[in-house]
Amino acid sequence: MEMFRFTKAVDVPQAVQAGAQAKTAQQGAQVRFIAGGTTLLDLMKLNVERPAVVVDINRLPLDKVEKLPNGGLKIGALVRNSDLAHDPIVQRDYSVLSQALLSGASAQLRNMATTGGNLLQRTRCVYFRNDAMACNKREPGSGCSAIEGENRTLAILGGSKDCIATNPSDMNVALTALEAVVHIQGAKGERDVPIGEFFLVPGSTPQRENVLEPGDLITYVTLPPPKTNTKQVYLKLRDRASYEFALASAAIVVEVSDGKISYARVAMGGVATKPWRSVEAERVLLSKGLDAKVFRQAAEAALHGAVPQSENGFKVELAKRCVVHALGMATG
Ligand SMILES: Cc1cc2nc3c(=O)[nH]c(=O)nc-3n(C[C@H](O)[C@H](O)[C@H](O)COP(=O)(O)OP(=O)(O)OC[C@H]3O[C@@H](n4cnc5c(N)ncnc54)[C@H](O)[C@@H]3O)c2cc1C
Ligand code: SF4
Repeated sequence: MEMFRFTKAVDVPQAVQAGAQAKTAQQGAQVRFIAGGTTLLDLMKLNVERPAVVVDINRLPLDKVEKLPNGGLKIGALVRNSDLAHDPIVQRDYSVLSQALLSGASAQLRNMATTGGNLLQRTRCVYFRNDAMACNKREPGSGCSAIEGENRTLAILGGSKDCIATNPSDMNVALTALEAVVHIQGAKGERDVPIGEFFLVPGSTPQRENVLEPGDLITYVTLPPPKTNTKQVYLKLRDRASYEFALASAAIVVEVSDGKISYARVAMGGVATKPWRSVEAERVLLSKGLDAKVFRQAAEAALHGAVPQSENGFKVELAKRCVVHALGMATG
């Protein structure tokens, strides 16, 4: 681990200022906010993250889940994953989020991990975490060891010749199906970004995973008012039943009226370089009956254009079955 400067912020303006000042003072050197630390500290010990300045944001007043006047929900960036999963409103109105959070990591990790940190957790690609190996995401221009190497757990959707790393978060998949909005405060002011526009596919710049600028702070995430009568399911398929990342997962939010699907949101995890919403699958489902053939057509649409790598071809069928099964669970 390299030397770094450690500071604590007590409010949002101070944190934003610390980010901005550090950027100027260090001439663009990396600033990292630390929340639960369950991703950042690991990566610092591995020399993958080498920030010059670490700003502790744990004292910021961003640890509440609040109902919004429009009926939606405001989730502070420092709300711990376990608190969010067990929040009564989340369990009742946004249960796909609760299910996704509880499927992730372990109880101890969820007690530390925060909403902001979970959004920004880095890939588990083994080469990204090993600074002796070529990795475009860690060291732009160095090459991608995974394309011809160990890629069993990596992406079949949204990849490029420069990177096929998956976004590993379960929470992000549920937030995508729920059409969350990420609220950001930075040196240039505040902005709100729909989650569908927040994450970037790697293209030729895999080091850039989202639209944040250096020093930007995520303040909270909002969810739209819940759709009445929706059924929500998060289904996660993995190598072992706990303490494991998804090989394929599906977050489903559906409403059924008069035996037909009147609303559908389908998002997938474990298979793509960012949390992957499939509007194609949603289109197939809309106005259709609860028919296994329709579910399969939706799954085929969701995986259309998948590009399997040498070790992860199995993910194409696995992800399809995951979507079909999750739709079956959601519609009873
Ligand atoms: C053994 C293990 C198993 C795991 N299994 C799973 C799993 O199955 N599913 C899953 O989804 N996750 C899993 N995780 C990942 C875990 O969910 C994340 O480590 C956690 O959510 C990160 O949150 P944190 O608050 O600890 O982030 P930190 O480590 O504090 O921060 C992570 C990143 O976010 C940045 N950051 C944090 N907060 C903000 C903010 N408000 N604004 C701007 N930047 C910010 C930090 O600078 C850092 O770059 C696992 C982790 C471990 C160690
Ligand atoms: S897949 Fe991405 S993260 Fe993994 S080695 Fe290639 S460039 Fe690095």
